[in-house]
Amino acid sequence: MSRNVLIHRNRALCVVVLIFSVLLFCFPSRLSARHLAEEATAKATQTIHVSNATWHDFSRLVDVQVGSHVSGVSELKRYLHRFGYVKDDGGDGMKNFSDVFDGRLETAISLYQQNLGLPITGRLDMSTVTLMSSPRCGVSDTHMINAGFHTTAHYTYFGGKPKWNQDKLTYAFSETHKLDYLTSDDVRTVFRRAFDQWASVIPVSFEEVDDYTTADLKIGFFAGDHGDGQPFDGVLGTLAHAFAPENGRLHLDAAETWVVDDDFGSKGSTVAVDLESVATHEIGHLLGLGHSSQESAVMYPSLRPRTKKVDLTVDDVAGVLKLYGANPKLRLDSLTESENSIKNGAVSWRFLSGNFTGYVLLVVMILFL
Ligand SMILES: [Zn+2]
Ligand SMILES: [Zn+2]
Repeated sequence: MSRNVLIHRNRALCVVVLIFSVLLFCFPSRLSARHLAEEATAKATQTIHVSNATWHDFSRLVDVQVGSHVSGVSELKRYLHRFGYVKDDGGDGMKNFSDVFDGRLETAISLYQQNLGLPITGRLDMSTVTLMSSPRCGVSDTHMINAGFHTTAHYTYFGGKPKWNQDKLTYAFSETHKLDYLTSDDVRTVFRRAFDQWASVIPVSFEEVDDYTTADLKIGFFAGDHGDGQPFDGVLGTLAHAFAPENGRLHLDAAETWVVDDDFGSKGSTVAVDLESVATHEIGHLLGLGHSSQESAVMYPSLRPRTKKVDLTVDDVAGVLKLYGANPKLRLDSLTESENSIKNGAVSWRFLSGNFTGYVLLVVMILFL
């Protein structure tokens, strides 16, 4: 058998393996995405009645028309202003918004819909109003607006694409800003798992240390106005926020009902929030990722109460890989080499027989590189 025939046969085999791998990975993810969409639609009919100091349930604004004057529109403008979609009405910075549904609000709603992966109508339809009434991350979406429109990738970065230039980051928990009802062991375990998710993908390790003041990453539970210009707002509304590199602060709203290990039942609360889901999201910000417009992504801005979303998706992985490169422990010789070998149709068995993250990487490379 000639060498050429062997090469062709190997290439054909590799193409079959590639297609099989993509099907293996993509099919379940599409099914689960559809499931998520159905679940979201089902949940859209639920209304969460919670008294919040900053914003409320916007459900009475459903189907309000452009040009109309309805009480509550000014509050909606304040909400959209808070997350980067509406500029101040006046130049005095007093945020005196009117109750008129004007053209600027319509534009802001369209932009919000685009960034959160909703149908872009500029109207206050049910799905838009429901999402605006849902709890979310406190980090403004300004960076998404500046990033422009994406065709394939949904992840974004902060302006200037800041990142850490060290491969080992230390983290510590505040001794003073903590919760009575969660043990420090529970909180540490949750954050360990969340950090491990990111560390399994990129060549950055995270080590817990005792000294909060000198740690690179500082984690704590804070209530109301806590001095960083990003006051928390009580139950639901904003759940947490974290700052871009190399700031390192990750703050969780102490007013939320935080649960660990799917302990939604015993809390018996309709407003319970999963700590690990929020921790995983906020660590993404600490690393330099902005918000994603893909609903299944960990970096999507909104999180419904009593839901868990801790697994990094292809979109999350693709975003963080482009900042830091791949973790060499994934048994990839190097990202560049793998990229080239995939482009040449020669994916090694060693790579394909790797762990789940190996499959994620494979699909990432196929879809985005
Ligand atoms: Zn966020
Ligand atoms: Zn804060």
